[in-house]
Amino acid sequence: MGTKDTSTMNNNTTKPHIAFIGLGNMGAPMAENLLKAGYALSVFDLSKAATQRLQQAGARVADNPKDAASNAQVVISMLPAGQHVHSVYLGDSGSNGLLAELPKGTLVIDSSTIAAADARTVAEAADKLGIDFLDAPVSGGTGGAIAGSLTFIVGGDDNAFAKAEPILAVMGKNIFHAGEHGAGQVAKICNNMLLGILMAGTAEAINLGVKNGLDPKVLSDIMLQSSGRNWTLEVYNPYPQVMENVPSSNGYQGGFMSKLMQKDLNLAMQTAQDTHVETPMGAKATELYTSHTVENGDKDFSSIMGRHDVSLLSYTRYS
Ligand code: NAD
Repeated sequence: MGTKDTSTMNNNTTKPHIAFIGLGNMGAPMAENLLKAGYALSVFDLSKAATQRLQQAGARVADNPKDAASNAQVVISMLPAGQHVHSVYLGDSGSNGLLAELPKGTLVIDSSTIAAADARTVAEAADKLGIDFLDAPVSGGTGGAIAGSLTFIVGGDDNAFAKAEPILAVMGKNIFHAGEHGAGQVAKICNNMLLGILMAGTAEAINLGVKNGLDPKVLSDIMLQSSGRNWTLEVYNPYPQVMENVPSSNGYQGGFMSKLMQKDLNLAMQTAQDTHVETPMGAKATELYTSHTVENGDKDFSSIMGRHDVSLLSYTRYS
């Protein structure tokens, strides 16, 4: 595991040129941190609004992934799901994607959360072309992406990991080498299955207290100093207006969309099924997020709070 040492990395004059693909809630602030650290960036996203933000920050906006990577030694992607990663790197036919256009020795870092099997498929195709591929999903949310304090959980070989580490250290604080290709994704879905369980459970506990006359902030403060303490209470309280600068105090906008949490829970359930591992709590969280996502897929995953009281979903800004 490495830690950030900006003193040496940010003064390096031979920084590689980076192509960054996927500039959503996570990708945009990650790319901005690379620009701030002095990396030259070419960016691509299907959304014009997303690329405009990066253009203003100093990136070159490309017309397509190939154009973005045209003079890059490193490609980073932050895409929604496995099918997007497959389509960008492998293309429709499996061999007409971006990988086929990259010179040997290019380092490709995919930070999207996708199935370990999909990451291994792309890694295998990259390997045949002499390209280094790493699965490097992240934890830490949009707050961590903005602050440059993400946790990267990396799968792939040692040499590629060593090349990637100084770049990841610009965007993250903790960088774990979990193992071979796909290992980063396995660790990530274990973490997110637990996060889904914790968020659904925290919302349920706060609702029980509120329905029994407690103030949600008082109850949250009590649980924060008691044995129910967890990450959602510390930095991501799901009840509106308990905490500033979190999605629950902003109409559940931004953050980590419920449909992405549902995707991750499904990935965990698939892995559990394939490997004959029992995950009853994960199965319950998957069931809750699956029904919640029907109407609230684009809202942050803390909006699971609204299962208990739909009026909470209409809160707007923290005042
Ligand atoms: P997002 O939907 O906000 O962003 C994804 C971006 O990818 C969008 O801007 C979209 O236009 C773009 N895109 C889609 N297909 C594309 C293509 N073919 N070519 C170029 N651009 C394309 O999602 P996000 O919240 O930034 O999450 C990205 C990944 O990170 C997901 O896999 C998610 O599970 C994971 N993740 C998210 C968070 C979080 O808190 N949001 C935290 C950890 C991990």
